[in-house]
Amino acid sequence: MEAGKKIMIVVMDGLGDRAVKELGYKTPLQVAKKPNLDWFAQNGTSGSMDVIGPGIRPGSDTSHLALLGYDPYEVYTGRGPFEAAGVGLIGRKGDIAFRCNFATVDQKMNVMDRRAGRIKEPDTTELVKALEGLKVAGIEAVVKDATEHRAVLLLRGEGLDPHVTDADPHAITKVQLSRPLVPEAQRTADAVNEFVKRSFEILDAHPVNIRRREQGLLPGNILLPRGGGPFPDIEPFEKRYGMKGSCVAGVSLIKGIGRVVGLEIVDVPKGSGGTSTDMVAKARIALKELERKDFVLMNIKASDVVSHDGDARRKVEIIERLDGMAKVLREGLPEGAVIAFCADHCTPVSRFDHSGDPVPLTIYSETSIKDGVQSYDEVSCAKGALGRIRGKDLMPILYDRADRSEKFGA
Ligand code: ZN
Ligand code: ZN
Repeated sequence: MEAGKKIMIVVMDGLGDRAVKELGYKTPLQVAKKPNLDWFAQNGTSGSMDVIGPGIRPGSDTSHLALLGYDPYEVYTGRGPFEAAGVGLIGRKGDIAFRCNFATVDQKMNVMDRRAGRIKEPDTTELVKALEGLKVAGIEAVVKDATEHRAVLLLRGEGLDPHVTDADPHAITKVQLSRPLVPEAQRTADAVNEFVKRSFEILDAHPVNIRRREQGLLPGNILLPRGGGPFPDIEPFEKRYGMKGSCVAGVSLIKGIGRVVGLEIVDVPKGSGGTSTDMVAKARIALKELERKDFVLMNIKASDVVSHDGDARRKVEIIERLDGMAKVLREGLPEGAVIAFCADHCTPVSRFDHSGDPVPLTIYSETSIKDGVQSYDEVSCAKGALGRIRGKDLMPILYDRADRSEKFGA
C-alpha cells in the first residue's frame, strides 16, 4: 500500500461573520478580494461546519479540540490545564492546573490591584524563579509565568481533586480562602491556601518588588489561583491517527491544545498571535513542517482579534492578507496533499464575540470534486457538496481523503 497523503488544516480564527450593515449587509468574506481562497473553493469541495454543534458558541480551545477530532465534552477539563500547556507546563493525569494572576495585596491580605499594576516580564519571570521547588501541604507546586500579569500553577501529588473554589476574589476585597466543594477536595484546597500564603511570604520582600515600590509601581506580591482543572487523559494524536503532526500557532492557548494532544509546537518568529502577524512567513513555515510531517495544524489569530474589536473594515483587510497566505500555500502545497480552510468559530463584528453560527469550509486536493462553489464565504460554501457537518467529522473526512482510512467490513 502506498503511504497516505499529507494533511493540513488552516484555521482562520473567528473568520465567519453575519450580515454587516456598514458593508451593505454582506459579510466581510463576501466583500474582501481573495482570489486565492476563492481558487481553493473553485477547485475543491465546500460546506458549512458547526464546529461543536448547531448554535453552540465555541471557545477557541474547545473548537480546536473538535477540529482535531476529539470530543470536547469528553476531553475538555477547563482552561487551566490548556493554559498551562500553552506555556510549556505539561501535567500528567491526576495533576491539577490553575490560572493565576500576579496581584498586589496589603499586609492584611486586602487586594489592592488584581493585576499588580499590569506587571509583566522580565519582572514576573524573576519572581516566579523564587517559587521554584515549592511544596505546599505535601504537594509539589510548579509555577510558570505566562503573558503579562498571568501565570499558571500546577499541583502534583496524591489525592488531588479540582473541585475547589478560587482564591482569587475577582474583586477588590480580601483574598478568599479556597474551599472544597466536595469532601475529597480538602487536601487540594489546603494546598491552594498554603500556596497563596507562601507566595505572599516569598514575593512581598523580593528584590524585584522592593525595586518596583521604589519606582512607584505596584508590587506583584501574591499569586491568586482560579479555574482549576485536571489534566485530561487524552489519547495522543499520533496514536489515534498514526500521523506525526505539528502545530503552527502564535497564541499560547492554541499551542496548549497542540501540546496536550502531542503535536510538535513550532515557533513562528513574527507570529505574535496579534494583527501584526507575518502570515506569509507563517505559511512558509507550515509548508516546511509538512515536508517532514504527515499533518500540520495552522492557526492565524488576527481575524478574531479585529472581530472582537467590532471592526468590519479591518476584518476585510485581514482577509485580504489571509489571501496572500493562501497564495503561498497554493504555490507550495506538496503533491497530493489535502488541505482544509476553515474557522474555529464565527466572531461576528456586530457581536464583538464568538457566535454559534456555522463556519465556511473548503477542502482541496488534486482529486477533489469541483462542486461549483465559486467563492470562499459563508453563503457560497453552504451550497457546496459537503453540506453541513460537525467539527468532529472534519478529521475523518480529511483522513479518508488522504487515503489513510481503514475499510469497515470486507
Ligand atoms: Zn478562536
Ligand atoms: Zn475570540
